[in-house]
Amino acid sequence: LIVLENVNKWFGPLHVLQDVDLSVARGEVVVVIGPSGSGKSTLCRAINRLEPIDSGRIIFDGQALPAEGRELARLRSEVGMVFQSFNLFAHKTILENVMLGPVKVRKEKKAVVQDRAMSLLERVGIANQAEKYPAQLSGGQQQRVAIARALAMQPKALLFDEPTSALDPEMVGEVLEVMTSLAREGMTMVVVTHEMGFARHAADRVVFMADGQLVEQATPDEFFANPRSDRAKDFLSKIL
Ligand code: ATP
Ligand code: MG
Repeated sequence: LIVLENVNKWFGPLHVLQDVDLSVARGEVVVVIGPSGSGKSTLCRAINRLEPIDSGRIIFDGQALPAEGRELARLRSEVGMVFQSFNLFAHKTILENVMLGPVKVRKEKKAVVQDRAMSLLERVGIANQAEKYPAQLSGGQQQRVAIARALAMQPKALLFDEPTSALDPEMVGEVLEVMTSLAREGMTMVVVTHEMGFARHAADRVVFMADGQLVEQATPDEFFANPRSDRAKDFLSKIL
């Protein structure tokens, strides 16, 4: 579903993505891990061209992503993103936040979108908070709203960039639970996270990134039992 071919990106002299090749199959869950500054967020943002790339190709659902224009906007709207900071609109209710994309971007009918939004809020366990404002919700609840908002666009894939890093520890579980159930239901997901439990249990594949390179790719069982590169061994010894 997602293919990156020989993707390179520089920030000035910094070669932040180096000849990155990655393909994510439909329904696959790929967890990206690696040290701070290794380029994980840049990779995530490059996938839907929130971050321009200097060379290489990104193919989504069989179609090469153009650098700009209407076609990019359409393809981009098929890839949902969930960030560390939830980025909800403070002056809009939870329900309005979830409805905004489909109504404004897709010009879908409000009634249809409202039904979908309510059932998504139900699915992430916060339907009863629909009329509240973001500030009235906990961090974990807000992040679940952000997931519902991404799903409201009926994306073909979801990208997560450290979705639980900003949360108090007691709220991490409820967000991971929603992500795990999405994974089980066959959503295609690329997840940057430091939650190794999630990587072990929900990932089909773990990608280890260091210094802008995809150093290792393996199933979680293989990766955690037998990291091949010294950098991966070193990384795991520090976090496990
Ligand atoms: P973390 O785990 O801390 O989130 P990361 O793996 O997500 O790190 P990136 O945010 O992708 O890393 O950053 C990779 C490198 O690119 C870092 O050295 C960072 O300082 C640099 N970088 C990121 N964004 C920019 C930018 N807009 N301009 C210049 N350098 C940047
Ligand atoms: Mg990052």
